[in-house]
Amino acid sequence: MSVIGIDFGNESCYVAVARAGGIETIANDYSLRATPSCVALSEKNRILGVAAKNQLLTNTMNTVHGFKRLLARKYNDPHVDKERRFLPFKMTEQPNGGIGIKVTYLNESHVFSPEQITAMLFTKLKDISENALKTKVNDCVISVPSFFTNAERKALLDAASIAGLNVLRLMNETTATALAYGIYKQDLPAPEEKPRNVVFVDFGHSSLQVFACAFHKGKLKMLASASDSHLGGRDIDTILAEHFSNDFQTRYHINPRVSPRAYLRLLMEVEKLKKQMSANSTKLPMSIECFMDDKDVHGDLKRADMEELCGQLFRRFEETLRKCLEDSGLRLEEIYAVEIVGGSSRIPAIKHLIEVVFGKQPSTTLNQDEAVSRGCALQCAMLSPAIRVREFSVTDIQNYPIKLVWDASMGEDGEMEVFSHNHPVPFSKMLTFFRKEPFSLKAFYAGNIPYPDPYIGQFIVKDVKPSADGESLKVKVKVRVNLHGILTVSSASLVVKQDASEQDSNEQDSVGSEAMETEGQKNETNGSENEQQAQAENSQENHVGNEDDADNQATSEKKDGAKKKKQLVKTLELPIEAYTHGYSQAELKNYVELECKMVASDQQEKERIDARNALEEYVYELREKLSSDEEFTTFVNENERSTLDNQLQYLEKWLYEEGEESELQIFIQELNSLKNFSEQIKTRQLDFEQRPAALEELASVL
Ligand code: ATP
Ligand code: MG
Repeated sequence: MSVIGIDFGNESCYVAVARAGGIETIANDYSLRATPSCVALSEKNRILGVAAKNQLLTNTMNTVHGFKRLLARKYNDPHVDKERRFLPFKMTEQPNGGIGIKVTYLNESHVFSPEQITAMLFTKLKDISENALKTKVNDCVISVPSFFTNAERKALLDAASIAGLNVLRLMNETTATALAYGIYKQDLPAPEEKPRNVVFVDFGHSSLQVFACAFHKGKLKMLASASDSHLGGRDIDTILAEHFSNDFQTRYHINPRVSPRAYLRLLMEVEKLKKQMSANSTKLPMSIECFMDDKDVHGDLKRADMEELCGQLFRRFEETLRKCLEDSGLRLEEIYAVEIVGGSSRIPAIKHLIEVVFGKQPSTTLNQDEAVSRGCALQCAMLSPAIRVREFSVTDIQNYPIKLVWDASMGEDGEMEVFSHNHPVPFSKMLTFFRKEPFSLKAFYAGNIPYPDPYIGQFIVKDVKPSADGESLKVKVKVRVNLHGILTVSSASLVVKQDASEQDSNEQDSVGSEAMETEGQKNETNGSENEQQAQAENSQENHVGNEDDADNQATSEKKDGAKKKKQLVKTLELPIEAYTHGYSQAELKNYVELECKMVASDQQEKERIDARNALEEYVYELREKLSSDEEFTTFVNENERSTLDNQLQYLEKWLYEEGEESELQIFIQELNSLKNFSEQIKTRQLDFEQRPAALEELASVL
């Protein structure tokens, strides 16, 4: 069993594997390390990764890309409107308000959710890993932008489980990069020394993340992260494509915007041009043959022009750098280095802006494309018992403040900020309420999030009952931001106190765990958690709810404590009903079944194509033999020769025409009949070759 780390990028994915010897990035079926985040649907099968991107221009409407940023979004989300301009495929509204991606697959119209499409890509990445590693792959760590909200994280987990991946952690791309940096540094400061503060800039295809991290030997602590979730390389491409569209409209009287295919071609060409500009400041040409209306188009641009066109974008880039600097509270002289990762950080103007803001040239210690996947693979190895790696403690932060809101009819404040901006995570907080009956907690993001709805979910604490004398009882609720960065109410318990003398009469009613508590002492039952944890759990207890009650209780406990009166404290685990984002179990099961069916159908198609290719190869091999292998032809008589020749000519044509779509069995039959013929000839040849020896043997016997 292997453990892998997946960098799920908006443009491309990387997969790294942790092995005893270190971390390696896996090459895909095209011997490339980058697998495009691209999924195509066709008449016969799904086409995934590199092959999908290769046919983007010929199957534009059924080739889905850019779907990372559609996860968990509603059809009418303004963010989706912004995304639409990058995406030629059709989207429809699903009955639940979500996005449906409308494609033609197996000659029928199909609608898939972004989660299903992501699952298809994950199936491919799993397949690539299993082929490269020659072993089953289930456990993985998948990267996620630090600005992803609960809904998006949950959608990504759903996609992974549809693809049969077991996600040990959704890891922030920021934190994965920092881990990939820290783990191999031998010279990090000792715990009592000042930390080494490093700023990282990840400028990718769809987003920008800037983050500051403090390192000590064996540990990292995220200090701050700032992001622009809508600033990436694709925005530069769009600006350049718009520039050339205007130019072509004036000079050639064609408008690429009216043709999704032409616009895609233009985007591909300007992306190439942009990359060349990173290495070259002189005027660079761009030509597209037979672009529209059979016209060849030519244009040119130099780096300085591009920088001017993108001035507004670069100003946003600079703002995000400054925001992170301010948020981190670091002075410039406290920053050891600024490390850059992500494809777009290769742009010279970007490097220059980093120097302007931080006063130092950016460093490229990390592999710019692979750092995120490598960090994920390291984290996966740390979380999995399958492999041993050096321990490294990772403390992440919560991007957005989270508040809980409840019915305040008990005279309390009705809400509380449970996790502040940049609060360390994973983290649990124990909240104490005083209640007689079931109650509900609603969770919201507070502050600005790049998602239209701040609502996270509702958690109903059930089975709460009053004490024997009808009073409210203490209810402890554990609220947690888990390893995936997802908010959960992970447990709740009812604290029932009884004098020790009452114990016998009530004991038979007790459920759940029991703890003897001398009043005045604190004894907590934290409930159980299935989740694997990267490091020692951080937790904190807060008294919310009726603060007066809490205080009174504490005082009376102290007084009683002086008498050391023994009380039996029972904590009864309470069921929690959660209504939050993501698919239900039934929906997930349905999607898993659908994915399995599509995998099986792809496999069948692959076998059919393999059989067709095998037949084609054999036809060529026999033709070659028939024309130039004298040994072979010596044993073929004229009649056979012309029959075989005709048959081979026929098959060659048939394979490209009416035979192309034949069933697997037909190809196998044709191949077998050719092979039978070859075998007959081989037997003749063998007989002939063995004849002299046999005759000699016979002669010697006689
Ligand atoms: P995201 O992180 O936004 O989800 P991603 O991880 O797929 O996306 P990257 O692979 O980091 O993105 O970066 C891809 C972007 O980098 C593309 O827009 C590409 O055009 C750009 N890029 C790659 N090389 C260069 C270069 N030499 N000069 C300029 N831009 C480049
Ligand atoms: Mg990225």
